[in-house]
Amino acid sequence: MKFGGTSVGSAQRMKNMVALVAAEGNVLVVLSAMSGTTNSLISISQSIKDAEFGNARKQIDDLETKYKDTAAQLLSDASLLGKADAYINKVFTDLRSYVDRPFSFKEEKEIVAFGEKLSTNLVILYMEQLGLDAVLLDATEFVRIDRNGEPDQKFIKEKATAALEANPGHTIYLTQGFICRNMDGDIDNLQRGGSDYTASLLGAAINADEIQIWTDIDGMHNNDPRFVDGTSPVSELHFEEAAELAYFGAKILHPTCVLPAKHANIPVRLLNTMEPEAPGTTIFNAEPTHTIKAVAAKDNITAIKIKSSHMLLAYGFLRKVFEIFEKYHTPIDMITTSEVGVSVTIDNERCLDDIVKELSELGDVTVDHDMVIVCVVGDLEWRNRGFEAAVVNALKDVPVRMISYGGSNYNISLLVRKEDKINALKLLSENLF
Ligand code: ADP
Ligand code: ASP
Ligand code: MG
Repeated sequence: MKFGGTSVGSAQRMKNMVALVAAEGNVLVVLSAMSGTTNSLISISQSIKDAEFGNARKQIDDLETKYKDTAAQLLSDASLLGKADAYINKVFTDLRSYVDRPFSFKEEKEIVAFGEKLSTNLVILYMEQLGLDAVLLDATEFVRIDRNGEPDQKFIKEKATAALEANPGHTIYLTQGFICRNMDGDIDNLQRGGSDYTASLLGAAINADEIQIWTDIDGMHNNDPRFVDGTSPVSELHFEEAAELAYFGAKILHPTCVLPAKHANIPVRLLNTMEPEAPGTTIFNAEPTHTIKAVAAKDNITAIKIKSSHMLLAYGFLRKVFEIFEKYHTPIDMITTSEVGVSVTIDNERCLDDIVKELSELGDVTVDHDMVIVCVVGDLEWRNRGFEAAVVNALKDVPVRMISYGGSNYNISLLVRKEDKINALKLLSENLF
C-alpha cells in the first residue's frame, strides 16, 4: 500500500491512513512526504544555493513548526510524543547545518530526502501508540539506482527480501517512498512523484498479491481533472494503457511506475483515501475492450524538424539523426517522418543548442518550443475502425503540429501549442466520452 502526500498530509489524514493499513494487515506500506514538504525542501535548497540564508532559515523554522504541531496532534502518549519531538529536533538541526556551507546536488538530494523520513518516523510512532505490530525499514538500505538513474531491480529484490527476513513475523512493514541511494552510496531519489515507483518496485520485489496506490482521487480519470470538468474514473486499464497515460502526463502515476508491476504481472489498484469504498481503477492484463479509455497531456515539449534535401531515397539518415540525440542523452518522445524530413519531440532542452548545431549538418532545422503532447489512450489496435477519425475530428479547430499513431496498439499522440492544450483536452472529452 502506497500513500501519497495528501494521504499523509495532516495528523487526521495519517490517522485515517493507519486505519486503512490496520484493516488490511500483512502489508508493506510505502509513504510519501506530507503534501507540500518536498516542495518546501526544494525551495529551502534553492535559497541556500542563492545564498539567501535568512530566507532558508525562515522556511526551515516554518517547516519545523508544522511538524511539531502535527506530532502534537497525532500522539497523545507523552513518551511517544517526546520521541517524536526528539526526532524532529534532530532532523531540523541537521537541516540547519546545511545553511551557509558548500552546497551541491549531493546536499540538495540529502535535504529533499528529509520529507519521507519525517512522515514515516511520525507514522511508526502513531502505530506504536495504537499497539499495532509494525516495524520501520529504511528504504535507502534496499532501493538503489544505477549509473543511468534507473532502479537496480536485482539489488532491490535481494536487499528488500533480506530486510523483511531480518525482521520476521510482523503484520505491518513501513518504509519511505521516493528516496534511495545511488551507485556511489549517496542519498538520491526516484524523481518527483517517485513514491509510486518505490511501491511498484517493492511490490514486484516481494511478489505482492497486489499493489495499491492510495491517493486523493477515486482512480485514473478519463481526462485530466485539473483542466477538464466532469471527468470520470476508468474502472479497468491494461498495463500498457496505464503506462502510456502515466508517461504522457496523468499525474496520478509516476511516469514509469507501471513497468515493474507489469513485468511481475501484479495488479495495481488506484484508490482514494477520502473515499476508501470507491472501486477506483484496477490496472492488469485486461482483455481488449475496443474502446478509447482516457486522455492525458505532457507539457514542456520541444519539436525539432530536420528537413534534408538528401533524404529522398536515402538510407542511414534517420540513424544519423538519432545518434545525435543519443550522444546528448536526450530521449525522443514522438517521431513523424516524410520523404524529405523528420520531426521529433524532446522534453528536455538541456542540450538543445548542441543538438541543433549537429543536426544542421544534416539539413534545415526548425525548433518549436512550448508544445504539449496530447495522448489518447485505449484499445486502438489498427483493425478497430473509426478511432483515428474521431480523434482528429475532435481537434479539427485546433492547429496540430504532429500526429503519431501505430507505434503501439494503445495510443494516438498529437502535438499542439501550449495555449491550445486545455481546449484540446476539453474537445476530446466532449467528442470521445
Ligand atoms: P499523490 O500525492 O497521492 O501521489 P498526486 O498529486 O501525485 O497524488 O496525484 C493525484 C492527482 O493527479 C489528482 O489529484 C489529480 O489532480 C491528478 N491527475 C492528473 N491526471 C489525472 C487523471 N487522469 N486521473 C486522476 N487524477 C489525475
Ligand atoms: N515526495 C515526493 C514528491 O513530492 C515523492 C512523492 O510524493 O511521490 O515528489
Ligand atoms: Mg504522486
